[in-house]
Amino acid sequence: MASGRVDLDGNPIKPITICMIGAGGFIGSHLCEKILAETPHKVLAVDVYSDKIKHLLEPSGSGSLPWADRIQFHRLNIKNDPRLEGLIKMADLIINLAAICTPADYNTRPLDTIYSNFIDALPVVKYCSENSKRLIHFSTCEIYGKTIGCFLPKDSPLRQDPAYFVLKEDASPCIFGPIEKQRWSYACAKQLIERLIYAEGAENGLEFTIVRPFNWIGPRMDFIPGIDGPSEGVPRVLACFSNNLLRREPLKLVDGGQSQRTFVYIKDAIEAVLLMIENPARANGHIFNVGNPNNEVTVRQLAEMMTQVYSKVSAEPPLDTPTIDVSSKEFYGEGYDDSDKRIPDMTIINRQLGWNPKTSLWDLLESTLTYQHRTYAEAIKKAISKPAAN
Ligand code: NAD
Ligand code: UDP
Repeated sequence: MASGRVDLDGNPIKPITICMIGAGGFIGSHLCEKILAETPHKVLAVDVYSDKIKHLLEPSGSGSLPWADRIQFHRLNIKNDPRLEGLIKMADLIINLAAICTPADYNTRPLDTIYSNFIDALPVVKYCSENSKRLIHFSTCEIYGKTIGCFLPKDSPLRQDPAYFVLKEDASPCIFGPIEKQRWSYACAKQLIERLIYAEGAENGLEFTIVRPFNWIGPRMDFIPGIDGPSEGVPRVLACFSNNLLRREPLKLVDGGQSQRTFVYIKDAIEAVLLMIENPARANGHIFNVGNPNNEVTVRQLAEMMTQVYSKVSAEPPLDTPTIDVSSKEFYGEGYDDSDKRIPDMTIINRQLGWNPKTSLWDLLESTLTYQHRTYAEAIKKAISKPAAN
């Protein structure tokens, strides 16, 4: 653990108390690990679940973890718990990660999605503003919606011009589909909470930073259906494809897998968040894209690469038919729509924090799928053999 650590301007970093809401999720678990292992800061971890951070929490009375006095877990639902304001008052910095953020929910549970991403975040913003607390709020790259380029004719050469697809925090418009495409309920709720936070900054002096993650992936993302999540649940693409590979089923390509994404390794992205935490003067008042523009693939290419990588780490040959096409209506139901392409502009995060992602798509898939295989392969084998044994 560091002493004598300095920020990007050479000033000593003072230990602070961080109230992290949604600390028990994918990003929260990695952020807690990083803060506890590499900094002197304290974490008040708030979530309804703690499974993904249980390795960081002290088994009662054991006294074995070096950071035992720097993390407290508070099991609470921010929707309706009066303890939230007290926790915010105890902290120097609030990080809000809590959200419903799996696309399968956006069109099937739009009310829960809107409440979670807008209404439930309101008291957090209000308590931060009223108590003059700094806020780092997690938004999404989905706020950009579709690219301008996707409205051009298919054969237009302008489609190759970055001006028509690179997503810039301070210049790109937010382009969503019609209301009946309920996919956009999430993006729209996130957009409104961003606007509210921005307005609190402008009118009431709230110190804020907004993070727009571009497909962060890695170990502990979401769940494997039927193993540590509901059998009928639909997680994000990394976990969907991992589940298919573990079960030796073809990977399902929604609407042909033509959509494009850029994937960034969670450990690279967490370094960006730590820079924001420890450099408030450089991060306050900014909205940051956090992604890896060099790791762009179509979903079809992602499926092909994951199939190759999984075969390497599991030593199992790939299936003869590794992918199948499925319509979005069949896979997600009515009201699904998609972002066509997501390339983050990196100018602002580079200028303010000097951050750049390091890990290639192949390398991040290799370490993530090694984790998935080690964590789930046995459990899947047992689950598959059960019905036969009965
Ligand atoms: P996650 O679902 O793993 O984590 C969210 C956590 O918030 C969960 O542990 C959940 O239990 C908790 N939570 C939700 N509602 C709560 C409530 N009412 N009270 C208490 N806890 C609650 O998701 P994640 O991938 O870690 O994402 C974190 C944030 O980053 C979200 O705001 C999400 O919209 C944003 N984001 C993530 C990505 C990504 O690539 N992972 C991309 C875009 C945006
Ligand atoms: N997708 C897919 N098969 C799956 C799961 C997802 O083809 O089993 C596609 C999905 O339609 C989208 C992309 O993969 O185009 C990424 O989906 P994800 O759930 O990770 O979230 P998004 O990037 O859309 O927010």
